[in-house]
Amino acid sequence: MSGITASTREPNGTVNLDEETLAAFTAGLRGPCVMASDDGYDAARIIWNGSVDKHPALIAQCTGVADVIDAVNFAREHDLLVAVRGGGHNVAGNATCDGGLVIDLGAMNAVRVDPKARRARVSGGALLGDVDRETQAFGLAAPLGIVSLTGVAGLTLCGGLGWLRRKHGMACDALVSVDIVTADGNLVTASKTENPDLFWAIQGGGGNFGVVTSFVFELFPVGSMVTLCAPFYRLDDGAGDILRRWRDFMAEAPEDIASNFLFWSVPDHPNFPEELRGIPVVITAAVHTGAREDGERLMQPLRELGEPILDLSGPVPYSGVQTAFDPLFGKAERQNYWKSLYIDTLDDDVIKRAVARAHDRPDPWSLMVIWHLGGAMNRVDPAETALGERSAPYLYSLDTSWTNPADSESAISWTRDAWAEMKPYSRGGVYLNFPGQGEEGEAVMRASYGDANYERLVEIKTKYDPTNLFRLNQNIPPKGA
Ligand code: FAD
Repeated sequence: MSGITASTREPNGTVNLDEETLAAFTAGLRGPCVMASDDGYDAARIIWNGSVDKHPALIAQCTGVADVIDAVNFAREHDLLVAVRGGGHNVAGNATCDGGLVIDLGAMNAVRVDPKARRARVSGGALLGDVDRETQAFGLAAPLGIVSLTGVAGLTLCGGLGWLRRKHGMACDALVSVDIVTADGNLVTASKTENPDLFWAIQGGGGNFGVVTSFVFELFPVGSMVTLCAPFYRLDDGAGDILRRWRDFMAEAPEDIASNFLFWSVPDHPNFPEELRGIPVVITAAVHTGAREDGERLMQPLRELGEPILDLSGPVPYSGVQTAFDPLFGKAERQNYWKSLYIDTLDDDVIKRAVARAHDRPDPWSLMVIWHLGGAMNRVDPAETALGERSAPYLYSLDTSWTNPADSESAISWTRDAWAEMKPYSRGGVYLNFPGQGEEGEAVMRASYGDANYERLVEIKTKYDPTNLFRLNQNIPPKGA
């Protein structure tokens, strides 16, 4: 092994890591530390978004807490630029970096369920599917997201929205405690009673406070069979009216039903009939997780908003709903830029604008989603978790996806225009798991957390990470940094 030059935290800063220093670090780890000269480097450095093509100097594939502690200490002692990777699904690409150290928790994916206590301990690199697999064995679930290949860590640390959000809240609300390695290399447990300030910050404050090595979640009885509603209507067959009727239906819907209104095209994928692929559609996707006999009856109106060209509705195992989108969101398959905005209304003006944008999407794979919110996730007081105020009834998310890197500039600028167009209907908060590239900086962070929560987050960041070691995230700079 020869020495290498690595990036430090200052822009364009570098440090030489000589052979002896590197050998001491890598020999101490139980997991491999992958470098550019190693076989498998490209596979190890790739993350979900194909737009992100970065070359870390070192990828420490940790197998346990001890590896994480060593990696954090090594990064701090050598002033290395450090990225932390859970599932690697962050669309902004925060789970990697050029020239620095990636602390990769992918191998730490164990999940242990205590069915009696209805709790699960989930390691810091687990994917949603790892959790669903273990919890569903006992008819339980944690409220996570809707694509099973997404990382639990990143999703939970910035909130976590899935099909259980109206009934059981967001992923961060179901947290009972975390184990976290902070910037000084100490392992700390945080819960409502132990280091409560840190626990509060972790419920929405992102990866700012350290490396979470495990999460304990409260679990809820779910499934195993639930009811899916998924009629596909042609976009040019009255989409505005369908959206209006979906809005009215969801305003009265029980919390057993969660729904996302999708503007998409029938995916060009073998799972869909060939003759329909590519047709622009709207989908009133919904999942009912209450008593099984009620699901189809209650959601029937969503299947009668027009003449569906395809209807995938019916009883499905919960694990089947959770994996339904997986084949359509493969790793590094496409270029992506996802940006969201909480909106306060779906009035005629918003509907007209959304439908016009849907006709004008940069690529058939580009998805626009209106998440209907409310219910349990709204009942959490803004001061109770870092995530803050949740009273907006909808999240408008532009999940822009395209294939040719040469189209990146126009796809990103289309997304920014579409996002800006909806700002008048919003108080300015974004869902920080769909933040574009975080380009609005502090202004959008304050709007999302609210001033009081943002100020408190800065205090807690200053206490636990005063030199901003953990900066590749939706960053909350500490005081004086
Ligand atoms: P990573 O890219 O690994 O990390 C994301 C951020 O978290 C980085 O800043 C990273 O440093 C930090 N981080 C990661 N692991 C740790 C850790 N152990 N300790 C401390 N910090 C850590 N969101 C939803 O709410 N609901 C959805 O249904 C949903 N669906 C999605 C589907 C797809 C296909 C994709 C690409 C994203 C989806 N998201 C969804 C957004 C998702 O929540 C974020 O992309 C999230 O960042 C993914 O977490 P991750 O662990 O995979 O990310």
